[in-house]
Amino acid sequence: MGIERTLTIIKPDAVEAGHVGDIIKIFEANQFKIVAARLVSLTKKEAEGFYAVHRGKGFFESLTHFMSSGRALVMVLEGESAVARLREVMGATNPADAAPGTLRKLYAANIERNAVHGSDAPETAAFEIAYFFPGIELV
Ligand code: GDP
Repeated sequence: MGIERTLTIIKPDAVEAGHVGDIIKIFEANQFKIVAARLVSLTKKEAEGFYAVHRGKGFFESLTHFMSSGRALVMVLEGESAVARLREVMGATNPADAAPGTLRKLYAANIERNAVHGSDAPETAAFEIAYFFPGIELV
């Protein structure tokens, strides 16, 4: 518990579809504060580095190709229990399993093009925040 920071990415599918404003509105409505933001066009190598834990999985090539296929908005969000709460607001990885009202239910096309990323644990958040915002304070 307590105030935490977590990393979110509005993925290329959602940026391309024009959902950035709607997604940020939902973040703010859920008491997340944006403390850092970068609009990026990831290289394939940068996407591979970010998703290194998935290297070797069947979807790794396709995922990193997708994540480097267009602009993405990377943000650090701050709030009470931000890591776990963001995961709730995002919904399940596969939009078919996502609860009504979650970002992925609202905006994801499929299990890969699923609109948003959110760190899955405080340790992951620390790695992911440093990956995009070296030097930023974690708390
Ligand atoms: P997350 O923490 O909910 O984002 O899910 P994971 O860490 O398991 O996977 C990372 C990302 O890889 C997901 O958000 C999807 O974009 C993609 N992904 C996960 N599982 C699959 C899959 O079975 N097939 C494909 N094509 N992509 C997947």
